[in-house]
Amino acid sequence: MNCKNCIKKPVITLTNSSIKLCRSHFIKYFEKKVNKTILKYNLIEDKDKIGIALSGGKDSLTVLHILNKIRSKNKDIKLEAILIDEGIKDYRDKTIKDAIKFCKLNKIKLNIFSYKKEFGSTLDSILKKNKIMPCSICGTFRRYLLNKKSKELNFTKLATGHNLDDESQSILMNQFRNNQEINARLGPITGLVKNKNFIRRIKPLFLVNEKEVATYAFLKGFKTEFSECPHASIGYRHEIRDLLNNFEKKYPGTKVGLVNSFLETLSILKEKYKKKHKKINYCSICQEPTSKEKCQACTYVEKLKI
Ligand code: SF4
Ligand SMILES: [Zn+2]
Ligand SMILES: [Zn+2]
Repeated sequence: MNCKNCIKKPVITLTNSSIKLCRSHFIKYFEKKVNKTILKYNLIEDKDKIGIALSGGKDSLTVLHILNKIRSKNKDIKLEAILIDEGIKDYRDKTIKDAIKFCKLNKIKLNIFSYKKEFGSTLDSILKKNKIMPCSICGTFRRYLLNKKSKELNFTKLATGHNLDDESQSILMNQFRNNQEINARLGPITGLVKNKNFIRRIKPLFLVNEKEVATYAFLKGFKTEFSECPHASIGYRHEIRDLLNNFEKKYPGTKVGLVNSFLETLSILKEKYKKKHKKINYCSICQEPTSKEKCQACTYVEKLKI
């Protein structure tokens, strides 16, 4: 994909290269790269019923748009969206509106579940009553609900909007914390073995970076205002994000280098931890799968003032 004989104005210079692309060539380049990831890692199969974890932000809207294009050519694939409302004032209430509008426009069924209804309290209210890192509890509740509700909705896979920047952060976080078993579960398609208790997650944006997704979403007119969770700047991930961004600025290509070298060893990691795969128990309270007696979500609900 190039603009060699193109007289149109460039809209982006690709990371780690001097290639500049105009609007139409960039859109072709981006979609080709995402489709290549889907094909290479076999992310979508016939008869799949894919749930798209929607937040209303640029990444998940981009995933929905591209998967919807694929669905229009293959009627054997079913798509629905799922949105988790954590109850974060001035953030989630705004992105929900964008998500509802987008799904309506694209004729996609949107399933919304909230912490308030499922756990009895919004995240805002939990944080008011308890001294706790927002992303620890929020991440646990969201992962829990996405898996549980995806099963109830009979999704065969769950597509998320994680891009190359998100993945490079996760990989490095797990390296720094010596969490190789968690790293083994990552990749364009998550999990170690097929297990009906865990809906596998697929990441079509795995190999496109944040700048490329933001440019695509902007050119497609998905989103005009940038919104970020007010808690996103607290915690370990945020520091890793800054570290990687500073490094990328100084040494372009750092993130893609990290992700590609991870992909080279991923199959070995998966193989190693597949063998060590722990026996799955079922939570004594909610019967969801867990490695302990009670799952982490139920442990939080018991421990915290909800
Ligand atoms: S940044 Fe943290 S608190 Fe905000 S939505 Fe994400 S996990 Fe939840
Ligand atoms: Zn061009
Ligand atoms: Zn439980």
